[in-house]
Amino acid sequence: MFRLLSRPAKHIAKNANLRVSKQQSRNLSIHEYLSADLLSKAGVKVPKGVVATTAEEAFQSAKSFGDRDVVIKAQVLAGGRGKGTFDSGLKGGVKLASTPEQVRSFAEKMLGHKLITKQTGAHGKICNKVFIVERKYVRHEYYFAILMDRQTQGPVIVASNQGGMDIESVAAESPDAILTLPVDINTGLSREAASQLAEKLGFAGKAHGEAVDTMLKLYALFIEKDATQIEINPLVETSENEVMCMDAKFGFDDNAHFRQKDVVALRDPTQEDAREVQAEKWDLNYIGLDGQIGCLVNGAGLAMSTMDIIKLHGGEPANFLDVGGSATTKQITEAFKLISSDKGVSAVLVNIFGGIMRCDVVAQGIIDAVKELGLKIPLVVRLQGTNVEAGKALLRDSGISTFPEDDLDKAAALVVKLSKITTLAHDAGLDVKLSQSANV
Ligand code: GDP
Ligand code: MN
Repeated sequence: MFRLLSRPAKHIAKNANLRVSKQQSRNLSIHEYLSADLLSKAGVKVPKGVVATTAEEAFQSAKSFGDRDVVIKAQVLAGGRGKGTFDSGLKGGVKLASTPEQVRSFAEKMLGHKLITKQTGAHGKICNKVFIVERKYVRHEYYFAILMDRQTQGPVIVASNQGGMDIESVAAESPDAILTLPVDINTGLSREAASQLAEKLGFAGKAHGEAVDTMLKLYALFIEKDATQIEINPLVETSENEVMCMDAKFGFDDNAHFRQKDVVALRDPTQEDAREVQAEKWDLNYIGLDGQIGCLVNGAGLAMSTMDIIKLHGGEPANFLDVGGSATTKQITEAFKLISSDKGVSAVLVNIFGGIMRCDVVAQGIIDAVKELGLKIPLVVRLQGTNVEAGKALLRDSGISTFPEDDLDKAAALVVKLSKITTLAHDAGLDVKLSQSANV
């Protein structure tokens, strides 16, 4: 939920005064080598490439290119790879290599290691694959992206003559170098509009024709695949005046997954937060955060206010979890398991307002989970609404030890206190079990 488009595209769009859509969606993104395949099938030129998962495979693939230079590229779902650093010490997730031995050596330092870029956060992202592509000699690097824009309520093309790894500073320092072209989704991108844009960008001669062709094909692909973003950086003109996509970042609308099964199959869960992958299996809206207090809530609005009130009392939420309005006992159990399996969580707050959702269903879900896993951390439960008495009775009779609290403000204050006590006890190596009688 609340995922934004990839940061560079968003950043660039922001500098161009566009309001890129901020929708409740998990924007599926796919690896470069898969994007390259989609592009190639759409008739767009990309350098020839082979994917490898071991250093030996990378070595063999490099050999298949003969004597030519190749570029080895880490496949992680984040931008800024060129300027990133691996936890193996290797600088750069995109490396030029002139021998297969060099490719093997780079692959050893990439595969199984985390690449940290300005988009990954300090933890970095694991690199399980490398993409080996033929080296192309580049005459000029352009930036070209198609995004969904909220302001014009349709696709917008963002392009620049100054593409490449510094596009973000170009966008910040010389916004005039970024061109934007809204496209009417009903009529699509016309050849005339594409031709004018290509000219403005500085394409001429044979390259101009190829650029127009590339833009039209990219637009068609954007529509066909229900993309929310196609970002080509760099789009290049080679020394032979060919127009090629050297790097591609795709985002797809998750509301269209039902008709884009082929695209969904390209997803790589190793690049996602494991907790979020698990949550999605059970149809739970879950976002992992860095705090200590696990929250199990129904409704996005209530989830937000629960997070706010925890913060107000000096705590930090460990997650955003909205079980929805009609969760089953099984879903609640899975939600609870997810929260309590998080090592960083030192107390849990359940805050349910039963409308369509029934409090007894929630209570039973919690009881089932606790019976299966045990309860190692304090659990504050606030239930209100439909079947609240039945829910409370179930919890009371279950024998599991919870901290019931009707008032949200008090519940939040309590869970923050309990979380602090649990953390202190844990740090001191004590195994304390908090129950209602604890003096908090
Ligand atoms: P990013 O840093 O994650 O955006 O990774 P890119 O795939 O864009 O690679 C970074 C830079 O490496 C690009 O901006 C290009 O300048 C260069 N590069 C990438 N692929 C190739 C290639 O096939 N040939 C050449 N000559 N340069 C490349
Ligand atoms: Mn790039």
